[in-house]
Amino acid sequence: MKKLSTLIFFAIFAISGLSQKQRGGAEIKQLQSPQNPRIGFVVHGGAGVIPRGSLTPEKEAEYRQKLEEALMAGYKALQEGKSALDAVEIAIRILEDSPLFNAGKGAVFTADGRVELDASIMDGKTLKAGAVAGIHTVKNPISLARVVMEKSPHVMLIGEGAEKFAVKNGLDIVDPKYFWTKERWEQYERVKKEREKQANQKTSKYGTVGAVALDKYGNLAAGTSTGGMTYKMFGRVGDTPIIGAGTYANNETCAVSATGWGEYFIRLGVARDISALMEYRALPIQQAVDLVIQQKLKKLGGDGGVIAIDKFGNIGISFNTEGMYRAYINSDGKPVVLIYKDE
Ligand code: ASP
Repeated sequence: MKKLSTLIFFAIFAISGLSQKQRGGAEIKQLQSPQNPRIGFVVHGGAGVIPRGSLTPEKEAEYRQKLEEALMAGYKALQEGKSALDAVEIAIRILEDSPLFNAGKGAVFTADGRVELDASIMDGKTLKAGAVAGIHTVKNPISLARVVMEKSPHVMLIGEGAEKFAVKNGLDIVDPKYFWTKERWEQYERVKKEREKQANQKTSKYGTVGAVALDKYGNLAAGTSTGGMTYKMFGRVGDTPIIGAGTYANNETCAVSATGWGEYFIRLGVARDISALMEYRALPIQQAVDLVIQQKLKKLGGDGGVIAIDKFGNIGISFNTEGMYRAYINSDGKPVVLIYKDE
C-alpha cells in the first residue's frame, strides 16, 4: 500500500512537471511574474454577439481603454497588498460606473422599461458570499453584495430589503433615472420590436462585468455584476447573483466569474461545476473551463463564457460566443486586453 502511494506520488510529481500545454490543456496563460509570484487578476465585460466591424474604431478603443483601466486598478491594489476581494470590488465598480457595460450605469432595461441590477461576490478563503438581486437605486451593486457578505448573516438580499440595507450602510443611492442611457434605451426598443415578431432571444447582446483575483496571501475572490438580459421579465433573476452559477471562489480550486444566457448557467451550476472539476478530477483550469463552456453549455444550447484563476495564478478563459470583453495581466506583468474570438 505504501509502495503504491509512493508510486502515485511520483507519477503526479512527474505529470505536474510538464507544461499545461503538454498535459493537453488548451491555451494556458501564466500570470505569475518574477516580481509578483503569486498575484493575478482577470476582468471581463461580458460575452455576446460581437462580430468584427460591429464596433466603430472609437467605440472599440473606449471598451479597451475602460477594461484596461479596471484591470490595472485591481492589479495595483493587489500589488499594494490589498486583498483579492478589494481588487475585485475596485475593478467592478469602475466597470459599473461606465455606460459601456451592462452593469450599474449602463444596465439594460427589463420588458417594462426599468432597470433591475444583480451582483455577487465570494471570498475563496472563507467561502463566505454576498449577493443582491432586483436593485433599482444602488449605484454600485457589487459593493452592496460585499456589505451583505460582511455585515449581514445572509448570503442574498433582494429588492426593497436589499436597498434598505444599502441605505443603512451608507452606500451611494441614486435616482433610478441615473441608469437611463440612450444606447440601452434604443437597444430596448429594438428588442421589443423583435420580440413582438417572436425573434430569437440570442439577438440581445450581453455585457455583464466580472473579475477574479489571486492576492499575495494566496486568497482567491470572484465577483460579477449585471443589469441582466435586455427585455427580461420584471422580477427575473439570472445567474449573476447565484453563488455557484455566475460566481464562485474557493482557495482550494479557483475563482470564477461568468457571463452569458443566465438561465443555462443556473441550470448547469457553471461556476461551481468548474471548481468541482478541479477538485474531484484534478483538471487544469483551462481544461475545466473548456469542458463546461465548450461542451456542457454548448450541448444544452446556452451561450456565454467565463474567466477563472487558480491558486497558482494560472488563468482560464473560455466562451462560445463571437467575442468576450476580457483583460488579464500576462507573465511579464503587462495588460492584455481582448474582444474578439480570433485575437
Ligand atoms: N448572465 C447575465 C444574466 O443572465 C447576463 C450577461 O451575462 O450579460 O443575467
